[in-house]
Amino acid sequence: MNNETVSAKRAFALMEKLAYVRLSCSEEEKRAAEELQKEAASFGLDCTIEEFEAATGEVSKATFKVIAPYEKEYEVTGYIRSDSTPDEGLELDFVYVENALEANLVGVEGKAILMNGRFNMDAYERIQKAKPAAIITFSGAVDDDLAKTDLEIRKIRETYSERHGSTVALTIRAVDALEIVKSGAKKVHICVKSEVKNGISRNVCGEIKGTEFPDQIVSFGAHFDSVYFSTGVYDNMSGSVIIMEIARYFMANPPKRTLKFNWYGSEEQGLLGSKAYVAAHKDELEKHRFMINVDVAAPILGKELIFCMGTEALKSYVDAMMKELGRAAVVEDDIYSSDSIPFADNGVPGINFCRFGAPGTAFIHDRRDNLALGYMSAEALDITLQNALDFSKRVINAPVFPIERKISDSIRGKVDKYLFRKKD
Ligand SMILES: [Zn+2]
Repeated sequence: MNNETVSAKRAFALMEKLAYVRLSCSEEEKRAAEELQKEAASFGLDCTIEEFEAATGEVSKATFKVIAPYEKEYEVTGYIRSDSTPDEGLELDFVYVENALEANLVGVEGKAILMNGRFNMDAYERIQKAKPAAIITFSGAVDDDLAKTDLEIRKIRETYSERHGSTVALTIRAVDALEIVKSGAKKVHICVKSEVKNGISRNVCGEIKGTEFPDQIVSFGAHFDSVYFSTGVYDNMSGSVIIMEIARYFMANPPKRTLKFNWYGSEEQGLLGSKAYVAAHKDELEKHRFMINVDVAAPILGKELIFCMGTEALKSYVDAMMKELGRAAVVEDDIYSSDSIPFADNGVPGINFCRFGAPGTAFIHDRRDNLALGYMSAEALDITLQNALDFSKRVINAPVFPIERKISDSIRGKVDKYLFRKKD
């Protein structure tokens, strides 16, 4: 195969260089955007950095103390975009509400509630209707080694607060939640100082003009932001460096169709980069035929997964192509929680290339997403790179574009549900 322009080793080296925490709207996210821009420029692809506003915030204080029937202070984190309490804090009755079903929430108005794990949109809606004064969620497991795990820092997403209002929200460790409920906590003291604001996040965007069909656009996407405590190499500098190599290939081998290469910021905060991109490029979207997204790759012990977001025909086409190429990949007709969603929402079908780690061998969204644990390699990254590149070459250089610009009702319904437009 004529893929010698690309190098998984070089891609892996770039990933190593950018293996630092890259939070939405942070200096590090900006630095990573500039590094990606510089790397693309090194092989002649000029990229612009497109800024967009993103909801963010800072919590300068968050304390939680059980005051009856015993007294003990517990380590907590305040949700980003939590409400603040008065400076002196709040003394509140305390109730454990399990999964926050309606029956759990009877009579909780004005109280502090502790719920299992984290809330989703449905639970948040039920909770806000019941009007507690504060929500406490927990992270981790009761047998966590405290020296090796972080107490999560979560956020009340604006999609939640826009619909159901804001509140005071905290996270504690699972082991502390267990102790608190076991000990029959009745009264607590909570203090939160939180600033809610907008920040600037960034997409890195480049274009290669098509030689034969310049008005037909295929876009590549990969997000380059990470979450707290995570160096975001597996999720998703791996995908970012894969599309960088694909861009390098098409710079050396001019494509028949126009290609856009987009590295998205703030994906982890609710696909904010790709949502901003489709909003800013609304007029051009009708020319977009297809979107190719890469999100998570490189675990040595893993499996290739391809999520097709179009029609059943797309899935069959991809499945057959992988078989013809002799590539082991599970091909699904399903949505994937990543930057292909806003494109599908605008009628642009897409595909997501991913390599999932086998259970217990690769980690996302915490400190274990790092290179030091040694579960990723250039060779493993190359598998996804070659799959994505071979698929892309065929589709992009086909005499007739082989994929219909169509989203099935089933995918459409899942996208609507994902974007909270409808319920089951
Ligand atoms: Zn991701």
